[in-house]
Amino acid sequence: MPEQPASPVEASLDATRDVPGAVAGAPVVDVDVLVVGAGAAGIAAARALRQANLTCRVLEARARPGGRAWTDSATLAAPFDLGATWLHAANRNPLRPLAEAMGMVPFDHGAHRISACFDAGQKVGAAEMAAYDAVWEGFHARLAATPVQVGDSAAALAARAGFGTGYWDATVAHWEGPVICAAPLASMDARDYLDTQLEPPDLLLPEGAGTLLARLAEGLNITYGAVVTRVEWGGASVVAEGDFGRIRARAIIVTVPTAVLAAGAIRFDPPLPVATEQALHDLPLGLLTKIGLRAAGDDRLDLPPFAALERRVEREEEAAMTAIAWPFGHDHLMGFVGGSAAWALSAEGPDATVAFAMEELARNFGSRAAAAIRRRGALVSDWGRDPFSLGAYSHALPGRAAARGVLAAPLAEGRLCFAGEACHPSLAATLGGAWESGAAAAWHARLASAAG
Ligand SMILES: Cc1cc2nc3c(=O)[nH]c(=O)nc-3n(C[C@H](O)[C@H](O)[C@H](O)COP(=O)(O)OP(=O)(O)OC[C@H]3O[C@@H](n4cnc5c(N)ncnc54)[C@H](O)[C@@H]3O)c2cc1C
Repeated sequence: MPEQPASPVEASLDATRDVPGAVAGAPVVDVDVLVVGAGAAGIAAARALRQANLTCRVLEARARPGGRAWTDSATLAAPFDLGATWLHAANRNPLRPLAEAMGMVPFDHGAHRISACFDAGQKVGAAEMAAYDAVWEGFHARLAATPVQVGDSAAALAARAGFGTGYWDATVAHWEGPVICAAPLASMDARDYLDTQLEPPDLLLPEGAGTLLARLAEGLNITYGAVVTRVEWGGASVVAEGDFGRIRARAIIVTVPTAVLAAGAIRFDPPLPVATEQALHDLPLGLLTKIGLRAAGDDRLDLPPFAALERRVEREEEAAMTAIAWPFGHDHLMGFVGGSAAWALSAEGPDATVAFAMEELARNFGSRAAAAIRRRGALVSDWGRDPFSLGAYSHALPGRAAARGVLAAPLAEGRLCFAGEACHPSLAATLGGAWESGAAAAWHARLASAAG
C-alpha cells in the first residue's frame, strides 16, 4: 500500500516531487525552494524563482497574500490601505514599474500636498507655516551635516545638531519619529536613520498598495493557513514544519517579520548563529495605526482632497493623530497614530482608538467634527496584536545599524536566507525594500539549489 501523505499540503506536493534538474544522489525534495510568508518579500522571491524555472512553494500563515500590505475596499466603500500606502522613493522603487505595467496609474501625492496645520485649535497662517517648513528643512540638513558617533540615537544626533527647543521642533520630531518611523527618535540608531531616509516622489495607487501586492501574487504556488513553526536547516536539504506536516526543499527563504521571529514563533534546528539571532532583536518593529473615518454627510471640514491634517505638539511622543483628508475625493479621512500612543491604543482596542481620533478632530473643529464624521463603521488597523506581524515596520536600535546586513547574509551557503523589509540597507521599512530583499534572497537560494 502506498504511504499515506502526512497532510493535504504534502499530498498537493506529490505532483512536484520530480524536480527538474534534480541531481542523482541528492536528497529527495518536495520543491527546490520554500518561501515562508507571502508578503512583498515572499512574493518577489517566488516570482524570481519561477522566472529561474525553479519549483517553489510559499507557505503563508494568513488566508491572504500581501502581509503588511492589505487593502480593504468594502468597509469604507473605497480602497483603504490598512498597512503600506505609498510607493516611497518611487524613482528607485521596483514596484512602480510593476504597477504601471499592470495599468495602474500612480498619483504623485507629494506634488499635490496641501498642509492643514492647527495650533491650539487655530489654523496656522502662512507666515507661521513658513517658519514650520523651515524647521523641517533645517532638521534634515543639520542632521546630515553633524558627524555621527557610534551608538548615537537619532535623538542624540538631533540634540548635537542643536535641535530640540524651538517652537516647532517637537512637532517635526513627532513626524520624524513616531509618525514616519513608528518609533521615537531616541530608540533609533542615527546611522541607520540617515541611511534609510526616503526621498520623493511618494506615489499613491488609487486601487491601494495591498491590491497591487495581491495582483502580483496571482498565479504563484501559495498555500494559505500554513503556519511554519520549525525549520531544520543543518543538512544538505531543509525542512519546514507546521500543522501542515513536513516539507523538504533544497533551500528556504524566511520573510517573517523580525518581531515574530524574535518572539520565537519559529524554532530553528540547529539554532541560529548568535549574530543572526541578535540581529532579530536589534531590529524591532515600531507601531503605526491607521484609522479610516467616513464623512456623515456633505461637510468636508473645509479640507480639500489630500490635505494633510496635523497639529502642533508640545512633546515628540505626545499622543496625536495626523490624517490625509478625502484621498482621491473619497468620503473618508485616513488617520495615523504612531509610536507609544499607537501601542497604548492597541492595548485599549479599536473603540478607544476611534474615540481618540474623534477627540483629535474635535480639538481642531470643535463640535462640528462629531456632526461631520460617523463613528460607526470606522476601520482601525492593529498590526501590533496581529501574531503574524507584532508591529508595523523595523528600526535599528542605537549602535545596531549593522544588524540589517547581518540578517540579510545567507546562511549555509544560501540554504537558509532571511528576507523582508528589515534586511534592506536603504529602503528598510518599505514595500520596495522588502521586494528587493526577497529578490536578492531568491538569487542566493537559487545558487544553493543548483549546488545541491
Ligand atoms: C500601518 C503601516 C503603514 C505602512 N506604510 C508604508 C508605506 O506607505 N509605504 C511602504 O513602502 N511601506 C509601508 N509600510 C511597511 C510595509 O508594509 C512593509 O515594509 C512591507 O509590507 C513588509 O513586507 P515583508 O514581506 O518584509 O513582510 P510582511 O508583509 O509582513 O510579510 C511576511 C509574511 O509572513 C507571514 N508569516 C508570519 N509568520 C509566519 C509563519 N510562522 N508561517 C508562515 N507565514 C508567516 C505573514 O502573515 C506575512 O504575510 C507600512 C506598514 C504598516 C504596518
